[in-house]
Amino acid sequence: MAYEALYTRGRPKTLSQLVGQEHISNALAKAVSSDRLSHAYLLVGTRGTGKTSTARLLSKAMNCDRVHEAQLSGRMLNKKEIPCNKCDSCLNFDSSPDNVEFDAASNRSVEDVTRLLSTAYLAPLRARVKTFIIDEVHMLSFEAVNSILKLIEEPPPNVAFFLATTEINKVPMTIRSRCQVLNFRLIPQQTIAPYLLRLARRLNVNLHEDASKKIARLAEGSMRDALTYLDQCYAMADKEITLENVNETLGLISDESLDEIIAAVTAKDRAACGRAVTKAFQSGLAANAIAESLITRLRDIEFDGLDSRKNFAELDRIIDAVRKATGEMYGSGIPDIILEMTLMKLAAPAQTFDAAPPPAQAAAPTENLDAGRKILYDVTNFFSDKEGESSTTAFLLDKAVVTGFAGDVLTVSFKTETWAGVFKGNLPAIEQATAQVAGRAIKIVVNVDSSLPPSFLGKMAEPARSNLAGAMQVFQASDAAKIND
Ligand SMILES: [Zn+2]
Repeated sequence: MAYEALYTRGRPKTLSQLVGQEHISNALAKAVSSDRLSHAYLLVGTRGTGKTSTARLLSKAMNCDRVHEAQLSGRMLNKKEIPCNKCDSCLNFDSSPDNVEFDAASNRSVEDVTRLLSTAYLAPLRARVKTFIIDEVHMLSFEAVNSILKLIEEPPPNVAFFLATTEINKVPMTIRSRCQVLNFRLIPQQTIAPYLLRLARRLNVNLHEDASKKIARLAEGSMRDALTYLDQCYAMADKEITLENVNETLGLISDESLDEIIAAVTAKDRAACGRAVTKAFQSGLAANAIAESLITRLRDIEFDGLDSRKNFAELDRIIDAVRKATGEMYGSGIPDIILEMTLMKLAAPAQTFDAAPPPAQAAAPTENLDAGRKILYDVTNFFSDKEGESSTTAFLLDKAVVTGFAGDVLTVSFKTETWAGVFKGNLPAIEQATAQVAGRAIKIVVNVDSSLPPSFLGKMAEPARSNLAGAMQVFQASDAAKIND
């Protein structure tokens, strides 16, 4: 018997088996039960999330005898019964001439596609409903799109269309607006891993849990990719699949090897780093693949917070350096050496490492920020003294956050473009007042930073101590409700 790929065997046979897309299967089960299926669906989502499988299930269900009986008698159907997979129609579905499937991305000629679509006007041969499943519909030619549009607008009796796409933006609005749209989500790792374990159990394969998690992570939300990876490992490893098998089969470097490198770099142990890197190269992997795995591993460590003692700034530094090295490695004749040098440099003791300090620190030393804040509050007071409680300029200054003060340049940031714009409009008057308060001319640079905290109170926690009392007066004098964004 020919070996049947897991990806085919793992395909859902009923709506209840559609993994990770419950929002879709629940809605469709209701529509099937109440016989309210649309004649045109647009299935949207990244590859391997279940679009084509769903289209097939619905095509089958539209023709399933038992589904039809239930619809006539008004009985609610369970997701497990859609379709039944037992009636003649279901059993013959795969060879049915009334189900037309094609991939618009394949090199079919325009005539070919037009001919296939024109069969929609012919009555189904055996089935109740003739179904068309078109993958990657955004790749269709202009003529083909027009034919489909015509078919959807004035559908011949007993025809249904399932248009699948990974790129909704490329599907013409005219098509989108005439279809019922089903949005497929990326399938979370936490859903894929247990599914793989269940599938393996059914196949009598001992899939280790850490191996299932690794495959789920690599699949990046695509069940099809996960099954393909599992298939490859299954073919190589027989009845037991360990994490090591997965790494070997898929050409991955083990987490242990990566952790050795990371540990050596963070411990500033150049000798250990050298040994770990050499070992990684001995696995036969390309430097690019190692660099990529290293970045992924570091990201995973940060995400999982696996080791709370680790300094994330240090990990970020490694990620940045390796990412930069990856750019240099591309097209270079010595990628191995570039990666090795980068890691050795990272493992060098701090004082000899010549990386530039983080830009934020260089641009805005803390003591200057406090001086800048003091000036801003003094100017705010200046305006509320001069214009009274309802001073719009003081109100505006309240919204500004000092994000830099070096020399005679004061940088203030606003959360929104709007406030920054209003502030800029008042800049001449504000700079004049600033010169008066500070006793020297100060240039004010205005920035927009949407990551700033929304509330005025967030800023109030930080003013220079010497000026806190003055700042509090400003706060009390203002309308707290209108100050909050
Ligand atoms: Zn059936």
